[in-house]
Amino acid sequence: MWMSKLARFAQPALQRSTSAVGCRRVWTRGGPGLTAAAHPASCLTSVQHRGHQTVVSASIPKTGHGVRHALALDEERLVEVEWEDGGQSLYPFSWLRDNCQCPLCFLRSAQARRLYLLDVDIHTGVDVVQVTDDNKVSIVWPDQHTSVFDAEWLRKRCFSPAARKTMQEELFINERYYWDCKLHLPTADFNEVLHDDKAALAWLTSLRRVGVVYLRGAPAEQGQLDKLEERLGFLKMTFYGRLWLVQDKPQPNNLAYTSGRFHHHTDYPALPSTPGIQLLHCINPAAEGGESEIVDGFHAALQLLAEDPKAYQILTSVLVDYKDTGADYCEYMLNARKHTISVDQEGRVSGINLNNATRGSVLDLPVQEVQPFYRALRAYVDIMNRPENVVTFQMQAGDLVTFDNTRILHGRKSFISFPDRPRLLEGAYMDWDVVLSRLRVLRKSVQGDI
Ligand SMILES: [Zn+2]
Repeated sequence: MWMSKLARFAQPALQRSTSAVGCRRVWTRGGPGLTAAAHPASCLTSVQHRGHQTVVSASIPKTGHGVRHALALDEERLVEVEWEDGGQSLYPFSWLRDNCQCPLCFLRSAQARRLYLLDVDIHTGVDVVQVTDDNKVSIVWPDQHTSVFDAEWLRKRCFSPAARKTMQEELFINERYYWDCKLHLPTADFNEVLHDDKAALAWLTSLRRVGVVYLRGAPAEQGQLDKLEERLGFLKMTFYGRLWLVQDKPQPNNLAYTSGRFHHHTDYPALPSTPGIQLLHCINPAAEGGESEIVDGFHAALQLLAEDPKAYQILTSVLVDYKDTGADYCEYMLNARKHTISVDQEGRVSGINLNNATRGSVLDLPVQEVQPFYRALRAYVDIMNRPENVVTFQMQAGDLVTFDNTRILHGRKSFISFPDRPRLLEGAYMDWDVVLSRLRVLRKSVQGDI
């Protein structure tokens, strides 16, 4: 039993009140992963509930609570709003004037600001602040322009650290659930995600948080990825085309197009804009072998940080040259430089680039730094090859796997095809831009606007 339904990973952020069922977030804060060292990476299935509140549930705004009082703090140039449930929020005058929602200042049809910054007095005072009969906050500015702010709109934009963290999590869904070999692969029904918004939202939320979702029930024939494209937006065009076939080819222009073992890797680090998501649809399985393997690169990165901080520091700072040269959709000579492990401004691991096949022979490092780089890279590869970090599964005809190519390393074992039916997978990429956008659109349709 290694499949699981999506629901446990896909609860709406604001409704989740404790750490997700059966898993623990490994969440780095502050400097580059220092906190992570104190929280050794965990797996989805082996950790007990800890009962702590998650970032997304810890803070604000319960909806439906109105404004009790609003007043101007002229010296601080802040409007203080006191909420009916007792909390308070502070809003700078300049921000309020800049974000006036009236038709002169804001074009509702475009959901965009009309007011130009040169026309804003960023040192403005206020004439009158009051709560209206319908529980909105009304401000009259010195030039007698009036702004009226909806209570819930204001509350969601509260400047408290907790509220800001909640809003950023809602917008970008950066909370991740890390896993190891005990992962119960999140699974959804292909036809449901095509036709049911709730199922599609659960699919994309799990794809973001867990990094991989298996789709069952697609026909075992080409053309299914076009349906997912229509559902989500558009595929990412690359030099391998919009769609590509993974099969044993003569004179292969990629290691994937052989029948040999293909070690764990992320796809296409040689492309400056690495594909965010990979979609692989099994049309003809192998007669023997060809099992798929995946590893959570974020989990492995945190293990590296805990076990070998120096190696982690090297892999988060050295830019590695990747190259891909050949001809497919058209002739190409690609070069890009990538960190093996990328870290975001919050110190969280945010991306993995690792591909042994296309790692270039050019290495732009002082000569004395080459050996430490190899040692660091080898330490990371050793961790991801530990059996306890690898999830193995065999794709059947029609099965489709979707995964985060900026996080999950994938590979496959060598295989033998049926004599009359070569192993055949159809693949495509998408950008996270497109998928996160669709996720927000679906969330709005299922749960309402944020
Ligand atoms: Zn206005």
